[in-house]
Amino acid sequence: ATLAFALPAAAAEPYLDPSLPVPQRVADLMSRMSLDEKLGQMTQAERGSASAADVTQYRLGSILSGGGSAPSPNTAASWADMTDGLQRGALATPLKIPLLYGSDAVHGHNNVVGATIFPHNIGLGATRDPALAQQVGRATADEVRGTGVQWTFSPCLCVARNDRWGRTYESFGEKPELPVSMATIIDGYQAGGVLATAKHYVGDGGTTGGVDQGDTQLSESDLRAIHLPPFQEAVRRNVASVMISFSSFNGQKMHGNDYLINGVLKGELGFNGFVVSDWNGIDQIEGGEGFTGSEVRRAVNAGIDMVMVPTEWKTFITTLRGEVQAGRVPQARIDDAVRRILTKKFEYGLFEHPLADRSLTGTVGNAAHRQVARQAVRESQVLLKNAGNILPLPKSGRLFVAGKSADNIGLQSGGWTVSWQGASGNTTPGTTILQGIRSAAGSSATVTYNATGAGIDRTYSAAIAVIGETPYAEGQGDRPGSLGLDSTDLQTLATLKASGVPVVVVLVSGRPLDIAAQLPDWSALLASWLPGTEGAGVADVLFGDYAPTGKLPVTWMQSASQEPINDGDGKPALFPYGFGLTYTTTPPPGTPGQPGTPTVSAVTSTSATLTWTAPTTGTTPVSYRVLRAGSLLATTTTTTYPLTGLTPGTSTQYTVVAVDAAGNAGPASSPATVTTPPGTTTPPPSSTCSVTYSVNDWGGGFTGSLTVKNTGQTAL
Ligand code: BGC
Repeated sequence: ATLAFALPAAAAEPYLDPSLPVPQRVADLMSRMSLDEKLGQMTQAERGSASAADVTQYRLGSILSGGGSAPSPNTAASWADMTDGLQRGALATPLKIPLLYGSDAVHGHNNVVGATIFPHNIGLGATRDPALAQQVGRATADEVRGTGVQWTFSPCLCVARNDRWGRTYESFGEKPELPVSMATIIDGYQAGGVLATAKHYVGDGGTTGGVDQGDTQLSESDLRAIHLPPFQEAVRRNVASVMISFSSFNGQKMHGNDYLINGVLKGELGFNGFVVSDWNGIDQIEGGEGFTGSEVRRAVNAGIDMVMVPTEWKTFITTLRGEVQAGRVPQARIDDAVRRILTKKFEYGLFEHPLADRSLTGTVGNAAHRQVARQAVRESQVLLKNAGNILPLPKSGRLFVAGKSADNIGLQSGGWTVSWQGASGNTTPGTTILQGIRSAAGSSATVTYNATGAGIDRTYSAAIAVIGETPYAEGQGDRPGSLGLDSTDLQTLATLKASGVPVVVVLVSGRPLDIAAQLPDWSALLASWLPGTEGAGVADVLFGDYAPTGKLPVTWMQSASQEPINDGDGKPALFPYGFGLTYTTTPPPGTPGQPGTPTVSAVTSTSATLTWTAPTTGTTPVSYRVLRAGSLLATTTTTTYPLTGLTPGTSTQYTVVAVDAAGNAGPASSPATVTTPPGTTTPPPSSTCSVTYSVNDWGGGFTGSLTVKNTGQTAL
């Protein structure tokens, strides 16, 4: 007989129920997984080497776009289509475990054309502004999520100890305090729903000679004092993943370092996210190309949970399966790795929202994010020399702009921009430093540009030379020889010098360069680092719309021959760590003058009116800032401001500052003192009133007194 009634629809598996606690969902899911499904979670393939069908067949857990690998055309929308296509491959598997898509969004979502490109980390380190770093991370997260990527291989928390290293610009600075304080960028990424990666664990910035992927020769206590604190901080901030360094520690490749990964990172620091290898990093453990079982075994047993781009990922899966079946990699180690990876997939809502968030695709490169980037650029500029206070430049007269980096988005963005190594030219939309200068200088100035300096003559009031490094990434930026200026820049500088016009140098570079010999020829030097797409931020500083606040994140040595030069080694630097000038307190030319002292009228115990006269010198004010005891109370466009809600019986000083259209603030007015009289208030309900009276003998009238007792009130 057949049953004639319908069974109720089967309840969804517990791991698909978002109301259950994550550990319970992980345990339920893992109880349903085969060994091969687990090995797939531990494997990360490069997008070009794995199709959606591969993702389905091999149960791959992660795909990355490495080294600028992008869909064609390279737009945010086609990224979203590309990642969704691969994600559908994952959702077609029986357990529907979503794919984790990773990318190097290391200064904005830099592989995507049109994304907001923020200053590289060395510039963020110069800002000394952890809240800004967090904002940068948050804005980046929106752009990343809008393309279906959920994981960034950032931040690099390296402590770069030798400027010869090609990754110096990926470092927030040469002292652990900088990566520690700027680790707030992790909070920004992760609050925006993107898993962050603290990399490269550990000691990547300390290799001998500044050689990329080299050997860090230190005592364990120095390693702990210099290179470990940023990772400790990242773990404290609950970073989702940690990437292992290609480098060695005292001769041993980090990818096989059981003590530092299992012992220190996971054990001592209590890291509970997952550990990812660097690109094919496990392949280097024993040297040579291709895997041996022992390399896979050592890496996984040392605590690596996911392997990035193992050479031939199919071979990796087969090799690891063999190691597990032979008992050389314990099943418990596999389960621990998979538990860590799945926990993050659940925590970040991937099971509920596996596809690109199309509501965010339009935020890629939007005005709000570019504004954050421009602020970061402003704050990252470090003023190193300003002879005769030539800066800020006047917004009038004749200016000559020269240098190969003046009108070049690619050069000002550096490596890791659209392509792995970065490139010169219009690689992505943005504002070049020259464009920023033109708009900041305004229409009453004449700005002439020639890259080589040709055409300069004595009629120019100043020359701005925008010079520096050409893009590079990783070991291709290692400079075992000189860190001097290139011949193109030296030629441009010679042309400008011959004109006799004072030269302001804007140095676009990923690290300090050897400039001691040229510095005496320059009137001013602004270290711009690698500012990214918002070149207007550099101009804001040149013209005084923003007075420089940046401080050197690294020691600026006399010459690379002094490397490594670090705090406390006693060698004299050209500019010490932490150095940075600002402008004098004299306001920029044209700034509004001083408003008249406010007069105070219509005073009651809780309100009054301030009235002042507009300044008669300087540019026309467009608004006024009203300050109470020196703190901003309000901004107004009129010369009258009503004060309300004052405290009866008090005296407070008020001043007014005039501000022009560009935001330049003039000097404060003399203070006006507002003194309110004591207030009257209604007696509380508990007040007692009593009347005493007496009536005279003949009943004609009374004498007596009336007393009102007003408990608790002082002024009547
Ligand atoms: C770099 C990593 C990067 C990875 C993926 C490696 O070559 O060392 O920093 O995250 O590539 O692109």
